[in-house]
Amino acid sequence: MNPIRLHDTLKNRLEQLEPIHKGEVRIYTCGPTVYDFAHIGNFRTFVFQDVLRRFFRARGYRVLQVMNLTDVDDRIIQKAAAAGVSIREYTEKYIEAFLEDMRALNLEMPEELVRATDHIEDMVALIDKLQQKGMTYTSDGSIYFRISKFPAYGKLSKIDMSGIKAGARVDTDRYEKDDARDFALWKAPKPGEHFWETRIGPGRPGWHIECSAMSMKYLGETFDIHTGGVDLTFPHHENEIAQSEAATGKTFVRLWLHAEHLIIEGEKMSKSLGNFYTLRDLFAKNYNPSSIRFLLLSVPYRRQLNFTMDGLKQAETSVERLRNFMRRLREAQFAAGANPEIQKRAEKAESDFDAGLADDLNTAVALAAVFDLVRDVNTAMDRGKFRQQDAPRVIAAMEKFDAILALLTDDDNDKLRKLGFGTALPQIPPEKIEALVEERQLAKKRRDFKRADEIRKQLAESGIILEDTKEGGVRWKQK
Ligand SMILES: [Zn+2]
Repeated sequence: MNPIRLHDTLKNRLEQLEPIHKGEVRIYTCGPTVYDFAHIGNFRTFVFQDVLRRFFRARGYRVLQVMNLTDVDDRIIQKAAAAGVSIREYTEKYIEAFLEDMRALNLEMPEELVRATDHIEDMVALIDKLQQKGMTYTSDGSIYFRISKFPAYGKLSKIDMSGIKAGARVDTDRYEKDDARDFALWKAPKPGEHFWETRIGPGRPGWHIECSAMSMKYLGETFDIHTGGVDLTFPHHENEIAQSEAATGKTFVRLWLHAEHLIIEGEKMSKSLGNFYTLRDLFAKNYNPSSIRFLLLSVPYRRQLNFTMDGLKQAETSVERLRNFMRRLREAQFAAGANPEIQKRAEKAESDFDAGLADDLNTAVALAAVFDLVRDVNTAMDRGKFRQQDAPRVIAAMEKFDAILALLTDDDNDKLRKLGFGTALPQIPPEKIEALVEERQLAKKRRDFKRADEIRKQLAESGIILEDTKEGGVRWKQK
């Protein structure tokens, strides 16, 4: 197997993965700010990190991944105040929605999914440490990181800070600072706003300190991988490096992985252009979770992804092709024996798939390996060159792929219904169901798998599931 190589933003080159802890990869992922539903651009990054962690696990690594939930920031405080509820109450429903969205896209839960507001003490301790090292100053009750004390500032984003003049606005902090580049670690409370009473004074944490404190708490002062969207490189990740490395004197992160932007129909996604989509917006338009997952993972993470409705329809066809292929492998009858060519073909697909992912998670190459196998095996079946004992071998390969792709389980309708989408199931009278089941059996007998599949699909759309019995018959049940 090829060594795993990943593109590190900081060194700007491919680096071989060599985990600090033997057999375990430790990953930090910047999670959502839970003041609203996450949008489809956010989910591109989350699907990327899901494929990444699934690939590590397929390679036999344990994964320890931390994702934060930013449940305190200016917008949350304002919106909670406007709604007359606590921060906790306001963010609760968006956290719940985010978890539902994750499940809909088959995103594995990180080992630690942690809220900022549960880690105020960790942030205070880190700020305290920075204060003692003389890296900070206080102005109007807020505490700032003094960038001029950290000469390596800018090493991740390669931004030349010398051109940024005092008074220019680098981030959205609306506070008095000595230097425009400096950023707030701790924000003094404003009248009527929620704040924490702590040993560094009353207030609330800045956004950047949250990720430094929470990542190092769970993963150690130096850890393997930090992921996020490319828009977080500056200033967020640059600031994370400054705070963490100034406090510990150690390298913060071994590999920085950034997912590129997603654009919609060739344009930047924005609310003002009316092309801003949450997952739920797409579900309401009858797009399936699996199609969305497929489209999001189909383009390698470092390439810009043009998300289009046509692309979603093609994704649906692709997923359907994989699922039909699995059905054919499981249901069709083949002559006894094994074809060594097929066994070899499955092996090659597995090694191509793995090699693609090992090369900076090239999902396009990995998917090509899968679809080439599907095409070749379908051809062998059509030509009668596929044998009974080949089926388990190819099924095993497909299951290996699906441990990472997570597309084969046909549960889109269930998921949509649970989230309140999708239409009510069309009703079919029982005698019509019996007739269709009978017709499908006959179609299979004459090897007309296309018709058999059409019928299965038609029944599935009405929530009718078919189960083959040991005696060669078929049972049906309502979902
Ligand atoms: Zn972060």
